[in-house]
Amino acid sequence: MRNEVPKKMFTAWGLRDDKWPSMLVGGDGPLTYNDGTVDPDCQKKFYVITACNFEEAMAIYHLRQGWDPYRPEGRPTECPECGVLYYSKGSGQCWSCTHHS
Ligand SMILES: [Zn+2]
Repeated sequence: MRNEVPKKMFTAWGLRDDKWPSMLVGGDGPLTYNDGTVDPDCQKKFYVITACNFEEAMAIYHLRQGWDPYRPEGRPTECPECGVLYYSKGSGQCWSCTHHS
């Protein structure tokens, strides 16, 4: 079995009175701009998803939102370091090793 890389945290955010979240953000905190202000749509944290990369987190997010399956950007290509398929034109994060294109 491969060495598994630590999973990353993603959080789903939305407006305080919404029934469902409206965005998925990498990390534990809300989306912030370069000047440090918080995106006004991030009023309430709905839930946490832990996944190996952005594409996996989006697949789970789409399931929970009741949407069609998530379609990653670009075609899957082989990771130059470990050989698994990943989306170099999407997040560029390999799910299996620390490679990031
Ligand atoms: Zn890899």
